[in-house]
Amino acid sequence: MASRKDYYDILGIRRGATEEEVEKAYQRLARTYQSAPQPGNRTADFRFREILEAYEILSNKARRERYDRLGIDFPFQEDFWDEILEEAEEENSLEGFEDLWEPGFDGGRLGAEQASSKGKDIHVTLEIDLEGAARGVAKKVQVLQEIPCVTCGASGVNAEGPRKFCGQCGGAGQIQVGLPPSASAKECDRCQGTGKVYTQRCEICSGKGWVGRRRAVTVQIPPGVNDHCRLYLPHRGHAGKAAGLKGDLVAEIRVKPHPHFGRKGDDLYAGLSLAIWEAALGTEVEVSTLDGTARVKIPAGVQSGDQIHIPKRGIPFLQGGGRGDQILCLKIQVPREVDEKSRKTLEELERRSSAVSRRKRDWTGRSGKRE
Ligand SMILES: [Zn+2]
Ligand SMILES: [Zn+2]
Repeated sequence: MASRKDYYDILGIRRGATEEEVEKAYQRLARTYQSAPQPGNRTADFRFREILEAYEILSNKARRERYDRLGIDFPFQEDFWDEILEEAEEENSLEGFEDLWEPGFDGGRLGAEQASSKGKDIHVTLEIDLEGAARGVAKKVQVLQEIPCVTCGASGVNAEGPRKFCGQCGGAGQIQVGLPPSASAKECDRCQGTGKVYTQRCEICSGKGWVGRRRAVTVQIPPGVNDHCRLYLPHRGHAGKAAGLKGDLVAEIRVKPHPHFGRKGDDLYAGLSLAIWEAALGTEVEVSTLDGTARVKIPAGVQSGDQIHIPKRGIPFLQGGGRGDQILCLKIQVPREVDEKSRKTLEELERRSSAVSRRKRDWTGRSGKRE
């Protein structure tokens, strides 16, 4: 596939890069694109989305494996993030973990020391409109969160069920380390010195130690967010292992295009059509803004393509301390048809104009004789 994207190339890393390297590469690139936003630069925007896409694939073990193995070319399309979300939910669902356990389930430990680790992050995508991005909005989202199984105390074993002698210490509860005469006995870490291990997994969590719980989380989106902004809600993700911290909830913001306003950085752009006499003589117009209407003075003599700023009617700065402008892009409109009287007026205007009439030039631009 000639057109296949190489996600490793996009992130500038080698094939065997570690999770940490993927993370670092992404953060470095994301900083570059976020610290120097290039308003209206579609190439930069597209490139940033590619970087995000590459990161979403390579930072996830299952997706990365599939990509390495099959070289699946994820089509770059609008519902890409929805797919990611659905996939994440599948991964988190309760089914499909059985085969991690050997059929015999040869003895589990209760409260055994596990390395404490932070829980995984939950990723969600939140779609909002431009008004929400400007004013801030609360969005409710359903997530499937892994929480510790209370029935088994996250151990995954049935502590009420039968026990059998520990295969590691033969039931002694201790194992010998070193050689005589300096040999010493150490508590068996498999049975924690009890000599016995549990033989049944916890029925509630099927031995996983955690269960999935659907939760509604309300994400308060601050005013000023832009498309692809990521919000991190600390400790709202999956439960950690052995008293480890919960992961984060990572909400990716998508701002829907607005029918009237274009956005570049924190400024909003809108077109404004003026009749030729309005442009020539000046006028006052009423325009809609994100907060109701505003009256704007148009000075005499404006031209098509001129821009008029309405200060502080754009998007508030995410960091606070002000907001962008609304910018009116002027377009002068000429009547498509003129009646006899108007034609006379325009011809009179032409005669009074100091410029040589273009109508009387030839196509090379040389001025012809004035008649
Ligand atoms: Zn359990
Ligand atoms: Zn033992």
